[in-house]
Amino acid sequence: MNDVQTMIAPSLTRHPLATAILIGGEMIAGNGQPLPVIDPATGEAFALAPAATRDDLDRAVAAARAAFPGWTARSPEDRRAVVHAIAARLRERAEPIGALLTAEQGKPLGDAIGEIRRAADHIEALTMLDLSDQLLREDARERVEIRYRPLGVVGGITPWNVPVMLAMVKVAQALYTGNTIILKPSPFTPLSTLAIGQAIADIAPAGTVNIVSGGNDLGAWITSHPGIDKISFTGTVATGRRVLESAAGTFKRVTLELGGNDPAIILPDADLDLTAEGIVRSAFANCGQVCMAIKRVFVHASLYDAVVEAIATRAAAIRTGPGTAPDTRMGPIQNRMQFEKVVTLLREVKQTPGARIVTGGTVHEGSGYFIDPTIVTGLPDDAPLVREEQFGPVLPILRYDDVDDAIARANATEFGLGASVWTRDLREGARVAGHMQAGLVWVNRHGGNGRDVPFGGAKYSGYGREQGVEGMRSYMEMQVVTVPVG
Ligand code: NAD
Repeated sequence: MNDVQTMIAPSLTRHPLATAILIGGEMIAGNGQPLPVIDPATGEAFALAPAATRDDLDRAVAAARAAFPGWTARSPEDRRAVVHAIAARLRERAEPIGALLTAEQGKPLGDAIGEIRRAADHIEALTMLDLSDQLLREDARERVEIRYRPLGVVGGITPWNVPVMLAMVKVAQALYTGNTIILKPSPFTPLSTLAIGQAIADIAPAGTVNIVSGGNDLGAWITSHPGIDKISFTGTVATGRRVLESAAGTFKRVTLELGGNDPAIILPDADLDLTAEGIVRSAFANCGQVCMAIKRVFVHASLYDAVVEAIATRAAAIRTGPGTAPDTRMGPIQNRMQFEKVVTLLREVKQTPGARIVTGGTVHEGSGYFIDPTIVTGLPDDAPLVREEQFGPVLPILRYDDVDDAIARANATEFGLGASVWTRDLREGARVAGHMQAGLVWVNRHGGNGRDVPFGGAKYSGYGREQGVEGMRSYMEMQVVTVPVG
């Protein structure tokens, strides 16, 4: 953050909705050097976020450990009621916190408010899952039960793309399963999460939810802290690897939700409008900054020109601008580093023989991080835009002749988060889906699972699952109890 810190204007102050970190039910200033938070629509810092020191983290861990026995002794119904009260507070404060989310993240205001409302719905839904113990077997000899116990203190670490949703899903899973949590938002988007801390401090019993902001070093302290029992991390593959290594020292349970390079395979009989609409919706939502966005499109040669045109026409109609403008449908890229990465990928496209920018390709002048929705054809599979996770609004469309070849090319990546198959022949769609090396595969859509569906990636895209019964149980330790029949 050093280049950013040189830009701090002396007038920069804390934002009234996010003045402090939350430790043990108290709002605390944080003893670290406050961090400037940049508005990606202007490239300028607009507020200071508090920063936790290692001592602050120790205090948060102590508070979370102290709260654990009381919290875990409460009934699931009680814990559900607390999560539902948090959801109600999120709905009440969706507009001001949404405005703050737009300011720090860049997404259109309607999407930001929508993220907070959806987070409220999702955390409620998560607490409706049945996590009860199971009877494995009872026979003449013995009764064998599988019980699930909370782990203790969870460390939740989140990225900057969908900060509120990801944070709240971790909070709800931890609380409902009887754990307490220490949550660390991204240094790029700490304010909306801190504002939620301020908003729910009187609802979550003291110490059950602790929210600490700071730099990346704070993340590393969390993953190595001996007082934390589990890490739920969402972010890049590179950081995920560091998290796993660091957590190994104390044998923490670890769930990793990492990057993706999701392919969409369009079969020759696909419905053109449904396919083009679904692909554009997935690829350009949140300015392409979604882990399971479509990031590569493979189209059968017989449909290629029509699909390219249908996608490009829809992409060209998306209006790019500041999230606060009412007609904006796509905001800026969230931070300068990510913006420069996407600008570099675009430059490489322009230097690739045979590559064509069908629409977009414009990087806006000025200090905000804006790039228009861009469709690229004619790239080889080893082009950086195809091989890497672009995490921005630039989508490559690739041609194939043989579906097995398309499957092999789509699978030729270390990522394995999501994939989709587009066809009118649902049986063929399901067959192709079965060959995709991905944790999540859809036919004729991409994304949009309910909270009862386990979420996570294969290969380098993940480690374990979040949500659904399987994901929730990753916040618990299995205990097998065998009792002889008397
Ligand atoms: P990142 O890995 O740079 O940072 C994520 C978080 O990790 C931040 O809070 C950061 O401060 C923290 N961190 C950094 N270094 C750390 C360390 N050594 N130890 C512990 N924590 C550390 O990721 P990002 O750029 O913020 O997020 C974008 C990435 O997240 C993309 O790759 C995207 O695909 C992925 N993502 C995945 C999912 C999913 O569910 N699979 C969801 C959203 C985003």
